[in-house]
Amino acid sequence: MLLAMRGYQKVQSWHQADSCCSTGSVRSSGVPKGNNPNINTTLPESGVGYRTYNREENGVDQVGLPEMIAFIQRLGVEWDKESSELPFQVGDISRAGGGDFPPHEAHKNGTEADLRPFRKDGAMEPTNINDPSYDRDKTRQWCQLVKRIDPGATILFNDSQLIKEGLTKYYKGHHNHLHLRPTLNSDQLDELGC
Ligand SMILES: [Zn+2]
Repeated sequence: MLLAMRGYQKVQSWHQADSCCSTGSVRSSGVPKGNNPNINTTLPESGVGYRTYNREENGVDQVGLPEMIAFIQRLGVEWDKESSELPFQVGDISRAGGGDFPPHEAHKNGTEADLRPFRKDGAMEPTNINDPSYDRDKTRQWCQLVKRIDPGATILFNDSQLIKEGLTKYYKGHHNHLHLRPTLNSDQLDELGC
């Protein structure tokens, strides 16, 4: 845990380094009005198997449907059993009530989360698929766990090897973060986006 926590205090200064789709535009059609009362559950700042990054005060950017937050927490518990105490890192989810969440194209319905790829040094800091610090094996292991828990889950991430293995899908801008969309048995799923 100490190894994993090292560097955690530094994450705020990296906000621009791995935020999602900073040049993305917001779709003009099909945009919810942001008044869904079910998007009301804030992910705790940390928990078993996970940490958070780029979190705004009171986690206002990490709000989701109750079942989405429960999914992340369950994933954390399962990951903790096999990760040698290296937590995964959760970023933006949605805002309370949902709706537009610039610069994201998606993240409108409380059903999606951004996550950092793993680093070989275990630091709670950004990395990307072209950086020597990027840990493909650990990131693969995490994707495999997601697929075991939820075979229908979608993970957008541009590691060509993981795409080849059927674990992730390509989407522009996703070289430095993973975008997770579990199935959640919800009929309010966002379109593919970031
Ligand atoms: Zn995203």
